[in-house]
Amino acid sequence: MTDMNTRRAIFMRVLTVGVCGGVVFICSCRKSLPGCSGENGRSASSAAEAVEPERSSGWNRPRTADREKERWRMAERIRLEYGLQDERVLEAMRAVPRHWFVPAGQAAYAYSDTPLPIGYGQTISQPFIVAFMTSVLELEPNERVLEIGTGSGYQAAVLNEFTPNVFTIEIVRPLAERAMETFARYGYETIRVRIGDGYLGWPEAAPFDAILVTCAPEEIPGPLLEQLKSAGRMIIPVGSEWGLQELVLVEKDSQGGIQKRSVMPVRFVPLQRGRE
Ligand code: SAH
Repeated sequence: MTDMNTRRAIFMRVLTVGVCGGVVFICSCRKSLPGCSGENGRSASSAAEAVEPERSSGWNRPRTADREKERWRMAERIRLEYGLQDERVLEAMRAVPRHWFVPAGQAAYAYSDTPLPIGYGQTISQPFIVAFMTSVLELEPNERVLEIGTGSGYQAAVLNEFTPNVFTIEIVRPLAERAMETFARYGYETIRVRIGDGYLGWPEAAPFDAILVTCAPEEIPGPLLEQLKSAGRMIIPVGSEWGLQELVLVEKDSQGGIQKRSVMPVRFVPLQRGRE
């Protein structure tokens, strides 16, 4: 685990990126956008709910040379225009084929600097936001990470570059099933998916070293705070659906105390309750 000085440096970096960005990063789309609704989910290959033992080495990180140049350009934009210098994260952004995860109708825009509709009124976040949220978690090898809001599965695939212990929860069943199918098709063997309300976390797999939330609750969910290890980190957008939202970096210290810092204004789709 990194020490407090490193953490402080990270916060400074976070603030620098936030200020340099100087804009509210739009991470959501609304049902009125083309492609945001009316897509049919395909059947799932498995429900993959059982918690398996921790994995530590030799896991699959699928690769393709297809559209590699576009991935490199995307990573360069994140580095030069947004100022994110985290080489490990930039490498992950170059490695994970984003076009595997976007709906066929959006494939041409897979590497554009924008969020994209994935159906059911939901979106895959802008590439910079995916990179930024991954970077502030400072993942160490084999850490246990929980994502709330699987969506297309792309963010989970980026997390899979760092650790084979990725758990992800999606409340919209057809989206979860489509992500499971994508993981199975391309060989993401270790990502574990649950269909359900991520507000409640994944108690059987807790505690987590890191939690990344890609939909916005009005308050930080208590179960997620409880399921964070000491020295654990959580990055989460907080705020109302139509009002102001802040991306908040939460840290739990070794005594179980909680520190929170707002790192930038954002707009994410809301965290929904109780659909499953
Ligand atoms: N991380 C995704 C982006 C997801 S958008 C990607 O890389 O594509 C946010 C997602 O959160 C949506 O798919 C939405 O259905 C989901 N969501 C909303 N409320 C949720 C909840 N309570 N539990 C789990 N997922 C939720």
